[in-house]
Amino acid sequence: MKETIDLRSDTVTKPTPGMMEAILNAKVGDDVYKEDPSANALENYVANLFGMDEALYFPTGSMANQAAIKLHTQPAEQLICDHYGHVYNYEGGGVSFNSGVSCKLIQGNRGKINAQQIEQAINPPDFYHSPKTSLVCLENTTNKGGGACYNLSEIQPIRALCNKHELGLHLDGARIANALVYKKQDPKDFGKLFDTITICLSKGLGAPMGTVLVGKKEIMKNAMRVRKVLGGGMRQVGFMAAAGLYALQNQMQSLEEDHKKAIEIEALLNKLDYIEKVDSVETNIVIFYIKDKNQTEKFVSHLEACQIRISEMGEGKLRVVTHLDYSDLMHEHFLESLNQFKIN
Ligand SMILES: *Cc1c(COP(=O)(O)O)cnc(C)c1O
Repeated sequence: MKETIDLRSDTVTKPTPGMMEAILNAKVGDDVYKEDPSANALENYVANLFGMDEALYFPTGSMANQAAIKLHTQPAEQLICDHYGHVYNYEGGGVSFNSGVSCKLIQGNRGKINAQQIEQAINPPDFYHSPKTSLVCLENTTNKGGGACYNLSEIQPIRALCNKHELGLHLDGARIANALVYKKQDPKDFGKLFDTITICLSKGLGAPMGTVLVGKKEIMKNAMRVRKVLGGGMRQVGFMAAAGLYALQNQMQSLEEDHKKAIEIEALLNKLDYIEKVDSVETNIVIFYIKDKNQTEKFVSHLEACQIRISEMGEGKLRVVTHLDYSDLMHEHFLESLNQFKIN
């Protein structure tokens, strides 16, 4: 293979020829004046997709999540999320920096939490010594949880609980597209269950950048202002928004191909004697463990010699993410390289 096979993340993709054409042909304007037709078209498309009132385009998923948290909370309040949550682990501590909010962490199952656990984590509203609980954040698919996703029947009781306790419910749907394709779910069902949802266009969907925050009118009222405060007001951003719209309209079904390849990787890993275990694969993330942790470095070097890059997550835990730019040929080469590794 001449090209490096990059399986560290699904964010490494380059625009497809069709996407490049959409970028070149995009009509643009100043989006801070809300005059960019391509950004407006993307926002309308996503709002309709989820059957929600309003949508707003952000440069990154982190900024979109951070804006959502700000829209739902006041300083000194608390949100509830899984201890694997991206909002807690991978957004630079933004929850406290941007919103002055703390996180109550739940030990869920592969990044998924349930209504009973959430109910126990809610602080009594009249006990003024504790932070006021005001928001629940779910993640779907889970990143650190290895691409696991929720059934709607698992989310419904969480919605009911949030109604009962007057809590906001936000979905970090960075990879919601993978979940929708894998579970054959209707995005409108998610629109009915959540107050706000983020969807990343720069993950498996293959756009160079961008995340859309979509939500209910009353919560989205201040979204433009919060985006501006966070430094996310952009000008002729329609070139990138057009890439995002192209991705949603043309590259969503190819996620199925990514999932198929991930399942094939799981099947092979399960047969290899140097592998301790593989977290059961649902979408495009494969998390697995080397039996002899001392061999991890040798294993990663072997793959590097085969021009394959994967992520090391510590303590023998490894991660592979399939994506649009991971071709059939690369897949064959990767499976072969896994077969070739021998423990001495
Ligand atoms: C990638 C990701 C985000 C957003 O990350 P950015 O790099 O800021 O776009 C948010 N949540 C999850 C679960 C993610 O995987």
